[in-house]
Amino acid sequence: MVNTSSTYVGRFAPSPTGPLHFGSLITAVASYCDAKAHAGQWLVRIEDTDIPRIFPGSEQHILSCIDAFEFEPDAEIIFQRDRLDLYHVVLEQLQQQGLTYACQCTRKMLGSNHIYAGTCRNLGLDFENNAIRLIVHDQLISFVDILQGPQSSNLYNDLGDFVLKRRDGIINYQLAVVVDDAMQGITHVVRGADLLDNTARQIYLGQCLKSPQLHYMHLPLAMNAQGQKLSKQNLAQALDLKHASTDLQHALQALGQAPVELDRPARMLTQAIAQWDHHLIPHGLTITGTYK
Ligand code: GLU
Repeated sequence: MVNTSSTYVGRFAPSPTGPLHFGSLITAVASYCDAKAHAGQWLVRIEDTDIPRIFPGSEQHILSCIDAFEFEPDAEIIFQRDRLDLYHVVLEQLQQQGLTYACQCTRKMLGSNHIYAGTCRNLGLDFENNAIRLIVHDQLISFVDILQGPQSSNLYNDLGDFVLKRRDGIINYQLAVVVDDAMQGITHVVRGADLLDNTARQIYLGQCLKSPQLHYMHLPLAMNAQGQKLSKQNLAQALDLKHASTDLQHALQALGQAPVELDRPARMLTQAIAQWDHHLIPHGLTITGTYK
């Protein structure tokens, strides 16, 4: 058990775009054990703002997994779809501060160019029926990831002004995640390394909103036999609730932790928390193995 008197509030924030798979379990287990080993809290948030990408039944699967793996969230589970008004208030606030602008560029107009050139920045377009972008500056955003080490990015050169609300009205993940992390008092973000390059955007947006700086730990990704990360697109297997204990054992093994006796999940988690050591997590962006 890590001993610390400082506050720790962690979270697991899956998107219901497909059923949870072994990669999701690794994130859930690591975020849970790290929070509990610091005598912290662990919250669950369902990130369902991107309605067209929601996969039917996956939300229920997430909730069933939380139960079957006997994770104990420290607060009621929240759903981002219930918080849309809040995100709009924050958008309004950013607009009043002159930090955003409306953008009419379509995907087609942007083509394969991944760095937004700021085409609409000074056009003074109507905020109602357009996308909303956050203005970024030519400055380095740096942070030290607990596992991946020092990171830095210049959003102006690497990305350009980025979208907070899409033309179709959908609130972008970046906005929802930053607002909710701040509102829920999150202090530590433990998630997959596929989100590492979103972090500079989120730190910058957090700064615009005067949110406290968070600690980040990006976990290496479990790869399938073809060397691809587990995902719905790559046909990752949905977690089977009947195999919770063995899956838990495999997840802890993938995280490099000391072995835990096979038992009911709650007991296994208690043991895993007691012996949790994040230094043992394999370093790097991927975990070699053949996960499904
Ligand atoms: N909802 C995101 C996902 O499922 C994770 C967000 C986060 O942990 O910041 O990929």
